[in-house]
Amino acid sequence: MTLSWKTRLIQPQVSAPEGFRSLATPVYRGSTTLLRSAAEVVDHWDQRRTRYSYGFYGTPTSLELAARLAELEGGYHTFLTPGGQAAISLIFLSIARSGGHVLVPDSAYGPTKDLADRVLARLGIEVERYDPMAGGRIGSLFRPNTQLVWCESPGSVTMEIQDVPAIAAAARERGIPLALDNTYASGVFFDAFRHGVDISMQALTKYVGGHSDILLGSVTLRDSRFYEAVGDAHQLLGFAVSPDDCSLALRGMQTLAVRLKQLEASGLAVASWLANRQDVKAVLHPAFPACPGHLEWKRDFSGSASVFSVVFRPGVPRERLVECIDRLKLFKLGYSWGGVTSLVMPFFDLNRQHGKHSGWLVRFHVGLEDPADLLTDLEQAFLR
Ligand SMILES: *Cc1c(COP(=O)(O)O)cnc(C)c1O
Repeated sequence: MTLSWKTRLIQPQVSAPEGFRSLATPVYRGSTTLLRSAAEVVDHWDQRRTRYSYGFYGTPTSLELAARLAELEGGYHTFLTPGGQAAISLIFLSIARSGGHVLVPDSAYGPTKDLADRVLARLGIEVERYDPMAGGRIGSLFRPNTQLVWCESPGSVTMEIQDVPAIAAAARERGIPLALDNTYASGVFFDAFRHGVDISMQALTKYVGGHSDILLGSVTLRDSRFYEAVGDAHQLLGFAVSPDDCSLALRGMQTLAVRLKQLEASGLAVASWLANRQDVKAVLHPAFPACPGHLEWKRDFSGSASVFSVVFRPGVPRERLVECIDRLKLFKLGYSWGGVTSLVMPFFDLNRQHGKHSGWLVRFHVGLEDPADLLTDLEQAFLR
């Protein structure tokens, strides 16, 4: 068949030689994957059972990332989502159903609680906030219709380390699944599955991405128990991910260990400096005794990360704190931590039912700048 040049633009009759073996996983951009024979036509999200049938269910790029995350966390399977928040909603919407009751710690990431209060409540799912330090006492909150227990450890901003093994034991006794937001530990500092968690999620946006340039999430299952439920909801809710973001996450994974090591050291240096300041009431850093659950952290975690909060004494005026924060030059004002740049964020209106937090909280993320420069920056901003 002689083809017009217009057709050859679309369907060339030449191609590059095969066999190039790169160390990097190729970025496969594709909504369509070609099927080999009409007899083989299938359409199913489960790539364990069927061949590639649609770009949405996975490309070699996204499935490579998912497989590596499952391997790293010691899970059965990982589903990827377009952000950490999508990973959270995927878990709730796969497991909870109308007439049910779910337990969410008061210290959970704000949008997790908003999802519960504003979306799940509308679907007839009752959400109860519990004291993050409840440990095994959580059993007293279980009801016949309790469908899911959520944990996040450490909690967002207030940094409570939960007694996940005790909560897991109580939940297991009643057959209630336990899900964990394991973003802080980036799936490595806390071994979710060894500590009894059924479903572990991460905002890969944070440490795995590590450079503040992607939005991606993961849901990793301990075993096959929720594989069908989560896989089905993942497809039907339409949580497709970008292969470019997956490629950046694959790159980020390669340097995760060295970045975490430096982030931990720098975080401890900056937190120690802040702990010695007159205006500071407490430093909520898991490695510091003032952090609620510090002993559980020592028992269950293999390291600390770069995020912590500082509680300023109640007498410190809000305006003064605002001035100090605005004077910072290296610490930038921004929410999404886990990258190479140091960040700061005040929380003046924290809404917590459990735990008392008199005094303003300021969250820090210590990046990969030289810690000596960061301390100089803090000194010029705070010491006057
Ligand atoms: C950032 C974050 C999320 C949400 O991740 P996005 O990718 O920004 O949607 C969820 N949980 C925790 C603990 C986070 O810090």
